[in-house]
Amino acid sequence: VKFVYDFTEGNKDLKDLLGGKGANLAEMTNLGLPVPPGFTITTEACKVYLDSGEEPAALRDEVSAHLDALEQKMGKKLGQADNPLLVSVRSGAKFSMPGMMDTVLNIGLSDKSVTGLAAQAGDERFAWDSYRRLIQMFGKTVLGVDGELFEEALEKAKKTKKVTVDTDLEAADLKKLVTTFKKIVKTEAGRDFPQDPREQMDLAIHAVFDSWNTDRAKLYRRQERIPHDLGTAVNVCSMVFGNLGPDSGTGVAFTRDPASGHQGVYGDYLQNAQGEDVVAGIRNTVPLAELEQIDKKSYDQLMQIMETLENHYKDLCDIEFTIERGQLWMLQTRVGKRTAAAAFRIATQLVDQGLIDEAEALQRVNGAQLAQLMFPRFDEAAKVEKIGRGIAASPGAAVGKAVFDSYTAVKWSRSGEKVILIRRETNPDDLDGMIAAEGILTSRGGKTSHAAVVARGMGKTCVCGAEELEVDTKRRRMTTADGTVIEEGDVVSIDGSTGKVYLGEVPVVPSPVVEYFEGRMHAGADDADELVAAVHRIMAYADRVRRLRVRANADNAEDALRARRFGAQGIGLCRTEHMFLGERREYVERLILADTDEEREDSLKALLPLQRKDFVELFEAMDGLPVTVRLLDPPLHEFLPDITELSVRVALAESRKDANENDLRLLQAVHRLHEQNPMLGLRGVRLGLVIPGLFTMQVRAIAEAAAERKNAKGDPRAEIMIPLVGTVQELEIVRDEAEQVIAEVQAATGVELKLALGTMIELPRAALTAGQIAEAAEFFSFGTNDLTQTVWGFSRDDVEASFFTAYLEKGIFGVSPFETIDKDGVGSLVRNAAKAGRETRPDLKLGVCGEHGGDPESVHFFHEVGLDYVSCSPFRIPVARLEAGRAAS
Ligand code: ADP
Ligand code: MG
Ligand code: MG
Repeated sequence: VKFVYDFTEGNKDLKDLLGGKGANLAEMTNLGLPVPPGFTITTEACKVYLDSGEEPAALRDEVSAHLDALEQKMGKKLGQADNPLLVSVRSGAKFSMPGMMDTVLNIGLSDKSVTGLAAQAGDERFAWDSYRRLIQMFGKTVLGVDGELFEEALEKAKKTKKVTVDTDLEAADLKKLVTTFKKIVKTEAGRDFPQDPREQMDLAIHAVFDSWNTDRAKLYRRQERIPHDLGTAVNVCSMVFGNLGPDSGTGVAFTRDPASGHQGVYGDYLQNAQGEDVVAGIRNTVPLAELEQIDKKSYDQLMQIMETLENHYKDLCDIEFTIERGQLWMLQTRVGKRTAAAAFRIATQLVDQGLIDEAEALQRVNGAQLAQLMFPRFDEAAKVEKIGRGIAASPGAAVGKAVFDSYTAVKWSRSGEKVILIRRETNPDDLDGMIAAEGILTSRGGKTSHAAVVARGMGKTCVCGAEELEVDTKRRRMTTADGTVIEEGDVVSIDGSTGKVYLGEVPVVPSPVVEYFEGRMHAGADDADELVAAVHRIMAYADRVRRLRVRANADNAEDALRARRFGAQGIGLCRTEHMFLGERREYVERLILADTDEEREDSLKALLPLQRKDFVELFEAMDGLPVTVRLLDPPLHEFLPDITELSVRVALAESRKDANENDLRLLQAVHRLHEQNPMLGLRGVRLGLVIPGLFTMQVRAIAEAAAERKNAKGDPRAEIMIPLVGTVQELEIVRDEAEQVIAEVQAATGVELKLALGTMIELPRAALTAGQIAEAAEFFSFGTNDLTQTVWGFSRDDVEASFFTAYLEKGIFGVSPFETIDKDGVGSLVRNAAKAGRETRPDLKLGVCGEHGGDPESVHFFHEVGLDYVSCSPFRIPVARLEAGRAAS
């Protein structure tokens, strides 16, 4: 194998081997752009080194050969005393890990070559400045010396000299500083700063390899879900100098604005400086546009190069460059990160420029970005005081009074207050408080912390790991970096999309993208509308190419209408249990308590017209589109009072000797219906089979509602869905009864009804016997929430709050299987059941109605296994449409 590639040998598609930086340096070299010559050591070499603790045997010779060639090209030798070649040794993994790994500049300088460099450049100050930078960087990143020590010494030198910026230090001062720095290295690292240039280079290469496995790099990878076994490449690049005086400098730029997507000149420039000064913020940079005044020739060339890069990469690029005495050099480029809004704008701009086609535009955006654009947001125009920033763990904009424990969160929210739960970290005991709060803020922990995982699961706004905020739970207060104290009850605002934390109430405005989906905003000229126009176009591309249809989970006409505005092509799940709550609960209670057939029939009779009315409204809202109605699913005790509360009430009443007859019966029923594992108990089709008349009442309500709509010249398309079926026999019994009821309604109304009858596939047994079940079902809807619970043996409500964080941290899964479908386990059941079902009944309609229906990655999976539709909550519909389009293009 080959471990070293010259920049002329690589290209942008070799990121696995050369890392992102190396691959793109090669690409720019081959485009003929001015890149300082150099070579890249592959990630393969890094992997060998990390696995065995030693570099691969062949590496040393390969590096020597490439170094020779480089020296030849440059006409100087690495560290040569009178005319030194200097290089940078730069890390560069496949995925960019900003600030995580190390780079050392000015390798090759020593006590001898520093004078050579001074002569070469005709600038002594510059040579000593470069040397002190080398010792500083090398000491810190290669020899592990505390960087503060160098900073302090530099500060002291400036103070002694009574100057404020490092450029005011002269050669003599820097020379002294070099002596001081070398002493620091000697005492701290227990060795001399190496004078042999090749030794410097080799040590730096090893340091870059090692930096792959620092704690912070590992943590970053875990949070960003970057595999741990990729390794980093190392780039050895001949130095160019931005610190050679006022006609030199260094800068960073974007080919267009990463926030808005607008084309133009975006970047920063710093005169007389080396690269790391820009990021370190030592001196103030100037906007890139000012470079035109400083150095017109370089500026024009840079603009030209940026255009070349955009046309070549067909995307927004960010770049690093350096100007050495009026000569421009390109040091890095990559396809740049951007905000969600910019992603949509840029994708459509590039289509208009003819750089990409519509199919490619779809790949440039994703559902997560669209979801981000749909959250309400803080009003950017508002005057606000930012007090901290953490990790954007779960999006949204939340405002409320600060509370520091769950008990208070629950108590205050019960009395109608909006609260933000602030903790150092959360744990399972905080669950009630998290549910009660508008949002959650923690000062510790990353994207896989308990707070982050649980909040995402609940769809609740969360900012975690805001480290500069000092949370004092005991004293119920939080202190900001500048000493401001936030007491319990003070209002704070948190932005789960940016991680920013504010003091006071920041006004919230609805997202323009939602306004657009709601039909309240159309294309126009101001800034928001430009985004809306881009979203509109991308959604149109997606709708044009997607095969999957998108339906909504909706239980009432209002939700159904919203879903329709959002593009729903029907209802995939109408949960009828929601129609049994509120004032209807008493009928349900009577049904459960009924001792005789008569009593039971009476309560069912009372429920029938109520249900029918619900369905009429729903079918009207969804006229012409399918509506899948699921018959009653949850265990009956959910309709009864809480067992503890009721026991207390009855006990108190008994002690006063005025116990009420109904309460006593209720309590008996509650005891009778109490289950150890309600999730696996009397629910779903089992209810229909043991409570006579329950399902037939529901079927009758559906059929009569459909007949009524037909008589009103409507186009109702009801589908009746039986939940929790495990075997075809259950389904057959329910189906026969339903068909009889439908026939009765047809006879009574004289209206011909076509009602499809199908089942949910949400138990492993149903999935495994799908071929049989399809004999009795006209459609399947995969209930992937319950299927995930039953396949994994997880009780969702219990496990997400208790041990999922540990599982995520240990990497047992990268994302909760309730969030993204577990393709290998649950997914393979879905795939096989779909296949078996269609073998029995080729026109079997297949859908999914778990929450996975609105999850981007899962949508791609459902497309791939050939389902007909996904169903999700109304707000996720645009996301599902977009991802279905991306999956198909
Ligand atoms: P990072 O990945 O942290 O950006 P880089 O390897 O890009 O690290 O280098 C850090 C800084 O040093 C950047 O500003 C870069 O432009 C600059 N730099 C790297 N190599 C050279 C070089 N050969 N000549 C001049 N500046 C360089
Ligand atoms: Mg860089
Ligand atoms: Mg279910």
